Amino acid sequence: MLVIVGLSRREWPLGLVPLACGRCGHPGPQSLVRRRNRFTLFFVPVLPFPSRLEARCPSCGTERRVDADEARRLGV
Ligand SMILES: [Zn+2]
Repeated sequence: MLVIVGLSRREWPLGLVPLACGRCGHPGPQSLVRRRNRFTLFFVPVLPFPSRLEARCPSCGTERRVDADEARRLGV
């Protein structure tokens, strides 16, 4: 019997937030996304994992997690 399992990822863009990059020091705004991974069985999502917020630097592409307190300060 063949069982096909995997992960799928969905992203929802939430806009730009005023954060500085911790890697390259780019002071400009970063794009904020809400990301959710889901476990799939035969390409059908069956188990969602908790969503999380991530900010992406437009200069170097580094992504970092934004916790709930920081998101509240940013007005998200
Ligand atoms: Zn950067």
